[in-house]
Amino acid sequence: AAKHAGRNTWRVYAAEMDGGGPDILGMQRAIRRALDNDEFVLHYQPKVAALDGALRGVEALIRWQDPERGVVSPGEFIPVAERFGLINAIGFWTLREACGQIRSWQHAGWRIPVAVNLSPQQFRQPDLVERVRACIDEFDIDPGLLALEITESVVMESSSSVRRVLEELKAMGVTLSIDDFGTGYSCLAYLCRLPARQLKIDRTFVIDMDHVAEARHVVEAVIRLAHSLRMEVVAEGVERPEQVLTLRSLGCDLIQGYYFSRPVPAAGIEALMQGDQLTEQSARVHALAER
Ligand code: C2E
Ligand code: MG
Ligand code: MG
Ligand code: MG
Repeated sequence: AAKHAGRNTWRVYAAEMDGGGPDILGMQRAIRRALDNDEFVLHYQPKVAALDGALRGVEALIRWQDPERGVVSPGEFIPVAERFGLINAIGFWTLREACGQIRSWQHAGWRIPVAVNLSPQQFRQPDLVERVRACIDEFDIDPGLLALEITESVVMESSSSVRRVLEELKAMGVTLSIDDFGTGYSCLAYLCRLPARQLKIDRTFVIDMDHVAEARHVVEAVIRLAHSLRMEVVAEGVERPEQVLTLRSLGCDLIQGYYFSRPVPAAGIEALMQGDQLTEQSARVHALAER
């Protein structure tokens, strides 16, 4: 089956492995080879101010440039890596790469906050805090420029060890962001006590916002809730100007989505910083500022 699945090859392998199927070692080798051969690359997607389109940070999103399959998206290989114990190697590669990028942008005179996604398993590693600290030290970056995105389901495990890790990261000066908010099960009492600075409203609510009244009400309520907890709100998956206008009217702080920019290589962010009028992204940002 995998042979004919094309871009879904890894998913099919994962399903087969549940039934005791074949090639776990082969896949581990492929991912390790990818790490050794630098086949992973980070793309960066802008987070911009809802009011004027100013760049306020970027999210690092991993891509696998497989020599045979072409670009493989994280939705295909991250779940497999998580299931077979490979996510830490990938996750810490991402963290180092992002810190290196923060460093080189800092050198160029640009203070661009970079957010890295942490998988639940990575979050549970006992040495997570030390590894984050080691990366910050190695690249000698301002910890305030590093953000960690953690999904709602992980931070809502209100265990004392989760809380301690979050507090330690915060004490280090790292920004914490709650990703995909609204898709999990949240205890509001616990949300109040989380040391997170940013809440990202999941794309599903943004998609439905314009035609399903309930979705719009959820977005509105989440923005109010976040603001009352002194958190900044990011809307994910913004694709159309109407969504920008709605989110702006609801007081949403930041916007992320294809409307402004798909995730792009670092050079694309640099073009944006240099105000390159020819890039599609900056044209969009300027169009927004004029509305
Ligand atoms: P996420 O953290 O929620 O990232 C947002 C995803 O939505 C990204 O998909 C992004 O490309 C996509 N997206 C952004 N704007 C739009 C839009 O306007 N419309 C639509 N349809 N999609 C949009 P991507 O890059 O495929 O990443 C998928 C997920 O994979 C991420 O979800 C994140 O959970 C995970 N991921 C990505 N990179 C890493 C990584 O380095 N480490 C870990 N652990 N997970 C990662
Ligand atoms: Mg994310
Ligand atoms: Mg997200
Ligand atoms: Mg999401």
